[in-house]
Amino acid sequence: MRVVPCAVLVLLALGLPACSAPGPAGTAASAAATQDPSPTGSPAPAGDLPAPAQREPAPVSTESAEASARPSSPPPDLHSDPGAVDVVVNKRRPLVPLDYAPTGLRLPEVATAGDTLLRSDTAVAVEEMFAAAEDDGVGLVLLSGYRSFADQESTYAHWVDEYGDAAAADTVSARPGYSEHQTGLAFDIGQADGACSLVLCFRDTAAARWTAEHAADFGFLLRYPLGFHGITGFSAESWHFRYVGRDVSLVMKAAGTRTLEEHLGLPAAPSY
Ligand SMILES: [Zn+2]
Repeated sequence: MRVVPCAVLVLLALGLPACSAPGPAGTAASAAATQDPSPTGSPAPAGDLPAPAQREPAPVSTESAEASARPSSPPPDLHSDPGAVDVVVNKRRPLVPLDYAPTGLRLPEVATAGDTLLRSDTAVAVEEMFAAAEDDGVGLVLLSGYRSFADQESTYAHWVDEYGDAAAADTVSARPGYSEHQTGLAFDIGQADGACSLVLCFRDTAAARWTAEHAADFGFLLRYPLGFHGITGFSAESWHFRYVGRDVSLVMKAAGTRTLEEHLGLPAAPSY
């Protein structure tokens, strides 16, 4: 394991970010981030979206009396299993249960800023992506991974205190039980030299540019892209990635679909 630059450790010691969020030193940048333009254009018509790869095909409908007489069962709650790789967590879709904790977490064998645990499938893909970045001369560091419900309580409270009210904190930090970090499938990256860690200017670093271009090849999605906070509920975070598996990430990349909500046909989640 490589040594993490002091700058990163200092940032971590300062109170660490919600996933989400610029560190205390980045308040100004964060204010700028919240002024990102509204989602540009309307989401593509549903008919243009690729069929979600992980959904089972719809059952063939029949006109038989037997079928129509069958009592109708409630529709399955799709993408709600917190242990499934297709779970969707946003401001309208809390984890169930709220204090869910994944099993099988481990520390990926990459440069990391601390106890950044991830689910095993996510950890493997992170190791592959970090190695590929290094081959291209780009140094990445893992800044944040799994956060428990209790961790998120502290993180969210920090941002409420920092901004003075919950409404402002909600633009950069998820409430406990509503964070992707609690699934073990989401993580934040930085550049190995600590440049612009967890603040707006990270998007202009080599690390951000490389991952924006290549993350999908390893099964990852840039979860909070610029200009889509009306759908995702969060300001742009060029450092926050979510493991969805290659079958989803590559289909989305090919189609140019930027958000999981659009890809899966789920409602936008601009607020709680
Ligand atoms: Zn994050």
